[in-house]
Amino acid sequence: MTNQFALGVDVGGTNIRLAVVDSRGKIGERRQYEARLSQHGASSDADRSMALVLATLESAIRPLLERQPDIQGIGIGFPGFFDNQTGSMLSSPNIPGLLNVPLAESLSQRLGRPVHVQNDASLAALGEFTFGVGVGLSSLLHLTLGTGIGGGVIINGGLYTGDGGMAMEMGHLHVAPEDRLCGCGARGCMETWASASAVAERFSILSGIQANAREVNQMANAGNEHALAVLHDAGRILGRGIAEAVKLLDIRQVSISGGLTGAWKHLAPALQQELDKHLLPPLIGKVSVLCSKLGDDAGILGAAALALGDMQND
Ligand SMILES: [Zn+2]
Repeated sequence: MTNQFALGVDVGGTNIRLAVVDSRGKIGERRQYEARLSQHGASSDADRSMALVLATLESAIRPLLERQPDIQGIGIGFPGFFDNQTGSMLSSPNIPGLLNVPLAESLSQRLGRPVHVQNDASLAALGEFTFGVGVGLSSLLHLTLGTGIGGGVIINGGLYTGDGGMAMEMGHLHVAPEDRLCGCGARGCMETWASASAVAERFSILSGIQANAREVNQMANAGNEHALAVLHDAGRILGRGIAEAVKLLDIRQVSISGGLTGAWKHLAPALQQELDKHLLPPLIGKVSVLCSKLGDDAGILGAAALALGDMQND
């Protein structure tokens, strides 16, 4: 098989990261742009929001395409929900004005290459499955721990995103205490205790010290009891949530990426213990949860894998 090249693009809340990736998952040139796409969503005019999103993505992508003409396809992970039949973005939590927009088709026309867009957490799962923890497996459940908690799943070698692209919204599984209100309007959601931002907020409330998740981890390393407690709690809640997902899917391999995995050694023991406590007895000890091998690059590599997979189908 000849080596092929795709551009993998990961659109986050505050920046766009992109890299050239070959068929073996080797990353070449990479770029990062600061872009707060969610602020574009403040516009009540859907056409204007769409024009701003397209212009932002085009200006991030085009310079790399011009320098590297051997890029044959583009994959983009975007915080939104996508129709599997048409590829249109049905909605995006960050940009509420955009509904039923043909994001991939419009970008493809502008850039002159095939473009595929899919939910960002689903593509992190695809990246981990294709190039990371999932190599050689047929199924993988993947979680991303950031501002919220995203989920994605590969079943029998294929990405599963549901009838309307909203499958695996792991962050909203009802497995946490109900003291904190979730962005979705409910209480008890996993991400209100186990996302990176929830860990930082719970630590600040307990200790009276403002800190981000990375600083909480540093304090846990130094033995701070509040930092250790909130990370232990996050691990526990993750274990419960993963146990519920495994009851539905019977997937034995789970991987986790995102900012909070920097605190993996504090999360993992409570996570594994609580997971085993809540699994059905025949599965106890048989579900393995690993920290991502790809780190922050899971999304970029998954986006590239989506584009590369399409080339191989041609
Ligand atoms: Zn929720």
